[in-house]
Amino acid sequence: MAGTPMIATSTTESKISVRGVTKVFPLGTETFVALDNVSLDIADNEFVTVVGPSGCGKSTMMNILAGLEEPTSGEALVDRERVSGPGPERGVIFQQYALFPWLTVRKNVEFGLATARVSKAERRERADYFIRMVGLEQFADALPKMLSGGMKQRCAIARAYAVNPSILLMDEPFGALDALTRVKLQEQLLETWSKEKRTVMFITHDVDEAVFLANRVVIMAARPGRIYDIVEVNLPYPRTEEMRLSPEFTELRNRVWHSVYHQEPGRTADTTPSRAMAPTEKEI
Ligand code: ADP
Ligand code: MG
Repeated sequence: MAGTPMIATSTTESKISVRGVTKVFPLGTETFVALDNVSLDIADNEFVTVVGPSGCGKSTMMNILAGLEEPTSGEALVDRERVSGPGPERGVIFQQYALFPWLTVRKNVEFGLATARVSKAERRERADYFIRMVGLEQFADALPKMLSGGMKQRCAIARAYAVNPSILLMDEPFGALDALTRVKLQEQLLETWSKEKRTVMFITHDVDEAVFLANRVVIMAARPGRIYDIVEVNLPYPRTEEMRLSPEFTELRNRVWHSVYHQEPGRTADTTPSRAMAPTEKEI
């Protein structure tokens, strides 16, 4: 096992609090430690990205927060309540678009609202607002098969937002898209987030994407799955194209790159809240 990370004790301000979470999966006759005593605090309206080698437990951590998996020990808290299943305050977006192919863009976006007991007129109005926000107004009546991958993912983002969750959990949402579409969607996601603040946990394997989007980048390591390092991104929003070329950005990207691709065995980050909480108000 890796070194012993300090466990969060004072988390009253955290929107999300992962406390000493361990997840063990059966592996044949053995067991596999996917997460080993992971603690992490995320502030309200903070944008956190998570990077790390394949198999380090990124999706497992997100699934525990989404209420789709249970920790073997430890707990995940949202608004100081223990997560015990999925809930409307947590919107989840996966790499696969998960749109209903037989429903139009508008009906896909309205879908989550139908279960939230919203009147028909209001449903339509809210769906159209978020469809405009992601720039799909021309395609509101189109079926998913008429959309490119990037447009499908924008539709999925509009649908997640329409339900008005306070948290967005995104697992490699742009992973299947080409580089240019990715960059455009990163900018658009930040634009949406700056208008409609949410607490975001965004998993990616793209180091540039992780730095460009985040208040803080959480770097994980595998065997066992743990938080290896946390890098604060003290770049102002809005983030721009020019910023990607700045020396500050390059330096942060290199730091994160090094932490992902040159991991020392056994190292674990100190994730006590005083050290880990980013001063988000100042930066946003
Ligand atoms: P990441 O998203 O960082 O690539 P995952 O969280 O998907 O990693 O998986 C972490 C490890 O746990 C992997 O080695 C994976 O094989 C294992 N794992 C994930 N889910 C299960 C499961 N349901 N049963 C057994 N092993 C699993
Ligand atoms: Mg994954």
